[in-house]
Amino acid sequence: MIVGAGPAGLLLSQLLHLQGIESVVLERCDRAYVEARVRAGVLEHGTAETLREAGISTRMDAEGMPHDGTELRFARARHRIDFATLTGRHIVVYGQQEIVKDLIAARFHAGADVRFEVDDVALHDLDSDRPRVTAGGESIEADFVIGADGFHGISRDHLADPSVYERTYPFAWLGILAEAPPSSRELIYCRHENGFALHSMRSPSITRMYLQVPATEDIGDWSDDRIWSELTTRLATDDGFELTEGPLLDKSITPMRSFVATPMQQGRLLIAGDAAHIVPPTGAKGMNLAIADVRLLSRALGGYYQDGRDDLVAAYTETALRRVWRATHFSWWMTTMLHTDPDGDAFSEQLANAQLDYVTASTAMATSLAENYTGLPYEQGWSYR
Ligand SMILES: Cc1cc2nc3c(=O)[nH]c(=O)nc-3n(C[C@H](O)[C@H](O)[C@H](O)COP(=O)(O)OP(=O)(O)OC[C@H]3O[C@@H](n4cnc5c(N)ncnc54)[C@H](O)[C@@H]3O)c2cc1C
Repeated sequence: MIVGAGPAGLLLSQLLHLQGIESVVLERCDRAYVEARVRAGVLEHGTAETLREAGISTRMDAEGMPHDGTELRFARARHRIDFATLTGRHIVVYGQQEIVKDLIAARFHAGADVRFEVDDVALHDLDSDRPRVTAGGESIEADFVIGADGFHGISRDHLADPSVYERTYPFAWLGILAEAPPSSRELIYCRHENGFALHSMRSPSITRMYLQVPATEDIGDWSDDRIWSELTTRLATDDGFELTEGPLLDKSITPMRSFVATPMQQGRLLIAGDAAHIVPPTGAKGMNLAIADVRLLSRALGGYYQDGRDDLVAAYTETALRRVWRATHFSWWMTTMLHTDPDGDAFSEQLANAQLDYVTASTAMATSLAENYTGLPYEQGWSYR
């Protein structure tokens, strides 16, 4: 039984199906809403490989945009981090909502039991061998319950005595989706005295951009003109960078938070993705971590059903947390290096500048950024194979 049809829940259902293990997916929202939800868009090398392994990569391989590097921009100058040269790995830019669409299509094509608009899910008997989920007047027994219901879901509340680690940042991201061709081939992470800016994209004709704003900011205070003007100011370079503008399709403000709840399991309940952990989006890790969790779970449950092993399920939290904490540190590090801290002082400002200078001047530091950003290889103990 899987609660939540985000990338984590749907991908787990698909990976289990490929091993002959069937599941029921219960989702609170309707299908159209889930398929239209614009969120992440940067896929780590291993995430793209996992989607290929799951048999849902046809559109990603045709329409996704492979990037061999990214740009760090500060003091009006550009500095490229070359992922391919430094690590032999790359990322793929492909929207989360497109992955969700591909997964839903694959699941229905295989005749899967995926139920939308189920808004009264409750979990029972999680410490027994036959946990139950009730929803829509029905009671369904299962071997395991997977909580893939995101940060605001219900499953995390069933952990008996979790340790929670949390940091809230004193700023947020104002994100826009614009009908405009990207102004750069690769992503641009920019530190400016007015705050951070990110230039990203979703397709050759759609640009995705973000501005650091105060945590309490009201989106109503940001007209389209003000957003373009601030993006132009922050992204300006001495060599004349030009930003392509276009009509806005979406604008929203997202708070920035780091959060880890552990253990990620309780009896026969296993939780994955945003249900267990949140990172600020600066390192582009949120969805990638959700996918790494369920890749791990699919192998643990495969071991359970195919080989009668329960050690992989027992080790789930410990194995997953190694990658979760690495990504949590990387996301915090990128965030503090690239944002201006409204509660900070001139000292912290100088430290961030010194760090950017070092990352762009030192091959060792640039390699560290590149290997974290493209995603640590599963084979190197960051996940079991
Ligand atoms: C606005 C926004 C922008 C983001 N931008 C980025 C980004 O640029 N880069 C990045 O890496 N990450 C980003 N993230 C994070 C990324 O989107 C998440 O890490 C990712 O969605 C996690 O996937 P998930 O499947 O674990 O959770 P979710 O995608 O949240 O899916 C959980 C699902 O469970 C459902 N659900 C919740 N409660 C219940 C219930 N009680 N019963 C049944 N179903 C339930 C929800 O409706 C949802 O469909 C962003 C997140 C947000 C909110």
